[in-house]
Amino acid sequence: MAAPAEIQNHSTSAAEKQVLQLDRSDLIVTRAWIANKRVQSSDARTFPVENPADGSLIAEVADCGSAEAKAAADAAHRAFASWRKILAKERAAHLQSWLTQVKKNQEDLARLISIEQGKPLTESRAEVAYGAAYIEWFAEEAKRAYGDIIPETAPGRKIIVTREPVGVAAAITPWNFPIAMLARKIAPALAAGCTIVAKPAEDTPLSALALALLAAEAGIPEGVVNVVPASRKNAGAVADVWLNDERVRKLSFTGSTAVGKHLAQASASTLKRLSLELGGNAPFIVFEDADLDRAIKGMIAAKFRNAGQTCICANRIYIADAIYDEFAERAVQAVANLRVGPAGGDAEIGPLINARALVKVERHVADAVEHGARVLIGGKRHALGRYFYEPTVLVDVDSSMVLSCEETFGPVAPLFRFHTEEEAISAANSTPFGLAAYFYSRDIARVMRVSAALESGMVGINEAAISTEVAPFGGVKDSGYGREGSPYGMDEYLQTKYLCLGGLS
Ligand code: NAP
Repeated sequence: MAAPAEIQNHSTSAAEKQVLQLDRSDLIVTRAWIANKRVQSSDARTFPVENPADGSLIAEVADCGSAEAKAAADAAHRAFASWRKILAKERAAHLQSWLTQVKKNQEDLARLISIEQGKPLTESRAEVAYGAAYIEWFAEEAKRAYGDIIPETAPGRKIIVTREPVGVAAAITPWNFPIAMLARKIAPALAAGCTIVAKPAEDTPLSALALALLAAEAGIPEGVVNVVPASRKNAGAVADVWLNDERVRKLSFTGSTAVGKHLAQASASTLKRLSLELGGNAPFIVFEDADLDRAIKGMIAAKFRNAGQTCICANRIYIADAIYDEFAERAVQAVANLRVGPAGGDAEIGPLINARALVKVERHVADAVEHGARVLIGGKRHALGRYFYEPTVLVDVDSSMVLSCEETFGPVAPLFRFHTEEEAISAANSTPFGLAAYFYSRDIARVMRVSAALESGMVGINEAAISTEVAPFGGVKDSGYGREGSPYGMDEYLQTKYLCLGGLS
């Protein structure tokens, strides 16, 4: 395979920059946020945060390490003693105040996501609303962490089950949804009575730090929410402190399967409660009896949202033989209409997050073509340069190609052909992953059969927009375990205590 071409820089226009200008420049916090104070890294080192659209420097952020990780855990531990004791309805009120702050600053938060992550402003606005929905939902749920009373087994006895916060929780989050991934960990943790220490991704620390600042402005007490930014080089050092600290009782991680497995092993010595939201490789199956208009729309949404960089993005698109050519033709028409560009304009597809991501997408497409796939549209870097990649449709794709077993995380739609339902199910299940799966069919018996047969934590049936705060989000197999959102998401931060009360007769 040819070496990747040198990256050409794109320059964002003054008008596009103007759209992304923050009303409140003080929302850009460049230090760690510990006990409601800005904290510099102990060696005063920083790392650059750049706009992936044009490479411009947004800020130099404190590159924290073990000292700041420990200080954050100390602060969270101190705060836990009182936070766990306040009334659930007071915690709910705190979360509602935080929600108010997030809504008040929603446009700035969206701009911040767009400048550090690159997604179009419309998608960033949707992400802020999605993150806010978790805060609202768990503010309400805080009041419903019910226990149980079980019929006694002997006279004069009561069997009572209570649910308590697990303790200090650690959160490690990725760059693709820098606000939403963190909000859906912090909100249930705080609702349950836990305090939190968080490490955002190197590429997108600013959104997370702004969320912490707004939590403080909402009156959430010091030490309850702490954010420790770090470069990729220091990520392990920060995590190691929390993994080995017995006071940190829980780790909620969203990211790649490789890092998730490493964290699971490394946390064994302190036996932490774990939630692991890991990589996906979602199959998207279209049967011959599907509503094709709906399936095309769903495919575009499930594949191209966030430039293909979501864990539930359709990665392998299986089309029934009878409709394969028509689907491919219509997919090309739809993809040709997608507008690519920087976030400040009217783009629907932004740049990839960094050079590593771009090179991975190029590798997947080159490998597919080498093994016989044909590019119907796209298939190369976009003329805008930088990390922009053309929305792509590939046909004649098969299981010999790397993109059939690895997550591409880019705007590439590979179309596989299948002949029978059994073949489609078997291909869909033929990866170690099991996060989301989608299929389109109007045959109700098939809908029930295929839903039951798919090995995944979530299934979209004639529906691509499956994420919502009211439903349990999470995977099976190498996509991890634990759920976020819904009452199941709250359970992750609660532990069960059984009280046996005797001598009552
Ligand atoms: P990643 O490399 O695993 O990074 C995720 C987070 O882990 C980042 O904060 C990262 O910091 C940190 N990290 C990296 N190495 C670490 C280490 N040795 N110890 C502790 N922390 C470490 O994942 P990514 O490739 O950036 O993110 C995309 C992946 O996340 C995809 O696989 C995607 O499917 C998955 N994802 C899953 C879900 C879900 O809900 N299941 C949601 C979104 C994304 P740095 O950024 O500094 O490296």
